[in-house]
Amino acid sequence: MEFCRVHAVALVSLLLFITPVVHGWGIDGHLTVCKIAQARLSEAAANAVKNLLPGSAENDLGSVCSWADRVKFRYHWSSALHYIDTPDNLCTYQYNRDCKDENGVKDRCVAGAINNYTTQLLSYDNSASQYNLTEALMFLSHFIGDIHQPLHVGFTSDRGANTIDVHWYTRKTVLHHVWDDSIIETAEERFYQSNVDGLIDAIQTNITGNWADQVKTWETCSRNNTACPDIYATEGIKAACDWAYKGVTEDSVLEDDYFLSRLPIVNLRLAQGGVRLAATLNRIFG
Ligand SMILES: [Zn+2]
Repeated sequence: MEFCRVHAVALVSLLLFITPVVHGWGIDGHLTVCKIAQARLSEAAANAVKNLLPGSAENDLGSVCSWADRVKFRYHWSSALHYIDTPDNLCTYQYNRDCKDENGVKDRCVAGAINNYTTQLLSYDNSASQYNLTEALMFLSHFIGDIHQPLHVGFTSDRGANTIDVHWYTRKTVLHHVWDDSIIETAEERFYQSNVDGLIDAIQTNITGNWADQVKTWETCSRNNTACPDIYATEGIKAACDWAYKGVTEDSVLEDDYFLSRLPIVNLRLAQGGVRLAATLNRIFG
């Protein structure tokens, strides 16, 4: 019976194209992170990016930042690399405890992936590099975005709020999707004539204005490391508890109160993602 029920559910999910998928920021979130980063690259890093990215017309980070989501089915092994599951309700993250996939294989989480692709890219000057550095760059640019989405460092039993049903205004969705897409889409509709470039401009203005004195701290990596995903993951689960999960239960209706109080967090995390992606690439190729 259970077997049939599971299959019936799977079939219905397929038919309706609502198969739940854990993914990162939506296309506009990743585009925002990568466009912010592209504008902050050093000359050496910008040249390396240009060399590594395919095609001559669009050798720019903005055009490749959602690639990792599109290859998840072809590269099935990569789907565990987009997030971290942390213990329910603890609101803390520890690499050794939490960075593993569903089968318990260590290092298979978004923080481990950031470390791994950073190490690969550090072989850029070595002509005998055994790695596909184009893919390494596209993965790294995507995963530094993902780790800044608070619910990508979420609780284990709700799969980063993928199983929490909510209403975003009148539309039915899940809480994870609200943070991937809905907050960003509503902000674009309401404040930027449905245009992602308006959102990107506004965030860039904050980076050089209101947030200018914090930016150096965002860029800093502990102990002279090249990549610092553990800092970002620790901030992520804290933001997930303080803002994303807070006050939300199954079937909550999320409207202006939630949207307007959480939008500043989304903007901040997109800004930090972009600044830190650039800082990481500048360290790698510097
Ligand atoms: Zn992702």
